[in-house]
Amino acid sequence: MRPVVLCFSGLDPSGGAGLQADIEAVGQAGAHAAIACTAVTIQSSQQVFGFEACAASLVKDQAIAVLDDLPVQVIKSGMLGTTDNIAMLTRLFAEHRIAADTPFVLDPVLVANSGGSLGDEQTLVTAFRELIAYSTLITPNTHELRALSGEEDLHIGAQKLCAQGAHAVLVKTSHDFESGDIKQYLYVKGEMVHQSTLPRLNGEFHGSGCSLASFIAGRLAMGDTLIDAVTSADNWITQTLRAADVPHPNDSKAQLIPNRFIRS
Ligand code: PLP
Repeated sequence: MRPVVLCFSGLDPSGGAGLQADIEAVGQAGAHAAIACTAVTIQSSQQVFGFEACAASLVKDQAIAVLDDLPVQVIKSGMLGTTDNIAMLTRLFAEHRIAADTPFVLDPVLVANSGGSLGDEQTLVTAFRELIAYSTLITPNTHELRALSGEEDLHIGAQKLCAQGAHAVLVKTSHDFESGDIKQYLYVKGEMVHQSTLPRLNGEFHGSGCSLASFIAGRLAMGDTLIDAVTSADNWITQTLRAADVPHPNDSKAQLIPNRFIRS
């Protein structure tokens, strides 16, 4: 069967972010997505109204059912919602329920692009510290990078996360609202190994971070190196954003939904 990516993520009823983004992005990368649902959110493409997190035991049982059944090559996590869920995933690694050499893409979701809360930021940040040690790649947005590292400078922040045990950190300046292109830096073991410039597209996108991280996870499952997976995900995400659906054509501030059904 196609290589499997087990994604821990929340349901976003608008279909822009969360587990739907994961399923579509992993599928477009050529792999198969399995999902352990961590939370059900109440949200539109424009804002978060609330969420109910799944109990850690429920999330764990979903994950074990998949791990016992399918050839899971890569783990990806997005919204975990509670410190219990973060601790549960940490334990799956610590207790070798997930093999130590399984690549793990950690998207440390704290808030939605709209600004809506997807968990209690301070306690999530603390709980993430232990999970970070198991990650192959962390894909924080600028807000998450600063919150997790306690550093304003993105480069120092990335190096700090590597020092905390992350193998690699992908830094994008997309949420720093300066004009001009978006810069992206890939740090591995504290060293910058790759940098690129991406066009800044007009508009705000709902689910772009989830899509990018999941596409990278899918490409890693397909056997790409980290740099190849990141490069291929950049090309793909740019196309999905250029082709994004526009739910509110008369509102220039409204968020767009990436169209992930394009071929890379
Ligand atoms: N996961 C879920 C379930 C979400 O609802 C969201 C945002 O709304 C995210 C993750 C993060 O989304 P983004 O890719 O826009 O950062």
